[in-house]
Amino acid sequence: MKNKPQTLRDSNEPYILWLKTDPLRLITQKEINDNKAITTWRKEDWGRVRLQVLSAENGVVRLSVALQKHEKRGILTIKVTDDQLHISCSCGQRVEKLCPHAFAALSRVSWPR
Ligand SMILES: [Zn+2]
Repeated sequence: MKNKPQTLRDSNEPYILWLKTDPLRLITQKEINDNKAITTWRKEDWGRVRLQVLSAENGVVRLSVALQKHEKRGILTIKVTDDQLHISCSCGQRVEKLCPHAFAALSRVSWPR
């Protein structure tokens, strides 16, 4: 499965992030930045990020993501495969890559380099 290049998608549809092939499967902040939608704000624009794990079972994690300066909460669904993350968000924004909720949540758990 691949992302369609440069087309807008509904954030409810999964966006694919490929995991590194090293044993730790790290995702770096640079990779997350490279997958940020053009319309997604910079870190300093969203304020405090509140994450809550709603469920984690069968390789699927569901997270509630609230951004201090964004009125709409997002429910992220992240499916983990051997080499990919399939990320979708309930906010329903039209984005070509990661919506603000996905970008903020992944930035919180990324490897800082
Ligand atoms: Zn979202």
